[in-house]
Amino acid sequence: MSTLFTINSCKTFGCRNLGLATSEDYSWPDYRLGYPALHCRACGSYPPLFEAHQFNEWLSAHLSAYASESGYFCPVCYGKETIRYGYNPQGTQRVQCRTCKKVWTPKRQLLREITSPERIETVSLIVPFQGRRADQKLYVLLSFDAIQGNIIHISTNFTQHSAGETLRYLCRGNIEPDLDHRDIVKHVDMREMQFLHRSQFDEIQYGSAVLKRIAKGAILRPVIAAHGHFRVLNILFPEIKTHLISHECFLRGAVITVWAKLFRQRQAELWYIEEDISDSDTNMPWHFQGKTRHGWWQSQWSLWVQGKNRKMVCSLTNGDSNNAKTLSLAASRHYIQWLYKQTDFIHSAKLSAGRVTQILCSLAQDYNCKIMKENENRE
Ligand SMILES: [Zn+2]
Ligand SMILES: [Zn+2]
Repeated sequence: MSTLFTINSCKTFGCRNLGLATSEDYSWPDYRLGYPALHCRACGSYPPLFEAHQFNEWLSAHLSAYASESGYFCPVCYGKETIRYGYNPQGTQRVQCRTCKKVWTPKRQLLREITSPERIETVSLIVPFQGRRADQKLYVLLSFDAIQGNIIHISTNFTQHSAGETLRYLCRGNIEPDLDHRDIVKHVDMREMQFLHRSQFDEIQYGSAVLKRIAKGAILRPVIAAHGHFRVLNILFPEIKTHLISHECFLRGAVITVWAKLFRQRQAELWYIEEDISDSDTNMPWHFQGKTRHGWWQSQWSLWVQGKNRKMVCSLTNGDSNNAKTLSLAASRHYIQWLYKQTDFIHSAKLSAGRVTQILCSLAQDYNCKIMKENENRE
């Protein structure tokens, strides 16, 4: 159980301690960078420390709720093997966990098995909600099967569960400005500057997010929501080999921690992708333009051009550079275009954080039905 929840660990690709909960190379708390950090002597890194007890408490509530609702795994032991176990008095299918024998009734009755994607694509989106004041902001994480195009998991940083003080998001007013998208190379560089200007690398300030006075639940720090998001995906799909993420350093940290075993064995790839797409219908080939290094970690990015379109790709692990040409954020791009045409979504700014989260989840189901039909017609 404890290894499933590791959050305080080295997060450096190539370090022997990557994702390990304990190591003789660790010392903590270390305040050298001005915040409590874990110091990994093997690679010299200082990942920020989390309050592990509060995180574990919230995460177990989060995983159990997801499991009870979806029926994809056991709410107690997270085992995935279940058997049908009769019906409840309302006539709804019950299931039993093969491992721990827990019996429960999933709220959502499964339409079909979910198949493990080859590549997962994850991006964030900021959407408005009505809190104590108007125009409060939710941080949304969307993960897609990058090849089939359907949504495989969606979460927001609103949680219905109680969350310890250290897990909660606090807007301090120094909100990161939107960056100029016209020059994609400069964009990547300025984004790295934003990470450096944070009080710690994972502490994004994305806008105000105060709930209504009577509202239950809490708004989480986006980094906590990200660890919760990828833990769910890791239980569903433990063997994912390719992860594509938008340019956000704590998404990198969460993915590499959650699938640490595969990354330690150099069995998985993680990529940052940034795009500037003005013509999404073109079939022209992508051309490689050159490489640049950016930011604190001096990561190497490659620039690609396709007519008016530009993309920047960065391997955060030992990814095969021949793959860079075919990688994109197309699945999320298509979804977001569709989402902004949905009336339920457009009017959601007047609704509570919990309600906006529900609407996003139900729209995701509609979208998946649409994608499923499109994929069937293509075959
Ligand atoms: Zn290390
Ligand atoms: Zn179980």
